[in-house]
Amino acid sequence: MRDTPTLQRANLLHPAIRQEVIDSITKIETNTFPQTVKIRIVQGLRTIDEQNGLFAQGRTKPGSIVTNAKGGSSYHNYGLAFDFVLMYDKDNNGTYEALSWDVNYDFDNDGVKDWQEVVQPFKALGYTWGGDFKSIPDSPHLEKTFGHNWRDLLAKYNNKDFIPGTSYVML
Ligand SMILES: [Zn+2]
Repeated sequence: MRDTPTLQRANLLHPAIRQEVIDSITKIETNTFPQTVKIRIVQGLRTIDEQNGLFAQGRTKPGSIVTNAKGGSSYHNYGLAFDFVLMYDKDNNGTYEALSWDVNYDFDNDGVKDWQEVVQPFKALGYTWGGDFKSIPDSPHLEKTFGHNWRDLLAKYNNKDFIPGTSYVML
């Protein structure tokens, strides 16, 4: 993991996936991509209050609708989801350009889309990819549910069924 904001966000993920995410990103960056590609986590843990603020946007607050998930109904609210993008140093001069959401790009020309080179190893570890969502596909999104739907997790949260000393629910 070569990107500082990514490490900071990864460190706020649920302890059940934190190290796995860090290790997997490091492995993909090292073994799959050229040195000139980095993976960035743009969103990890989003508290229930933050989620309710987003839900209000375009409904009871100004702006356009950005989410259909109320507080508690997103795996982000439990630190069990993250959103990633890719960053490329196309000139190999140490300058990484703006974040890339291009899911079809194949920078390393190996016949596999770069996006899938991130998604597939996570799917193999039991993560669900947002690009497979039927209602609103969400390509940057990966989540690991451990067999819990969000209502189970919200009930645990409301019961303060937390890992001791934390606000992360017991799985
Ligand atoms: Zn997400």
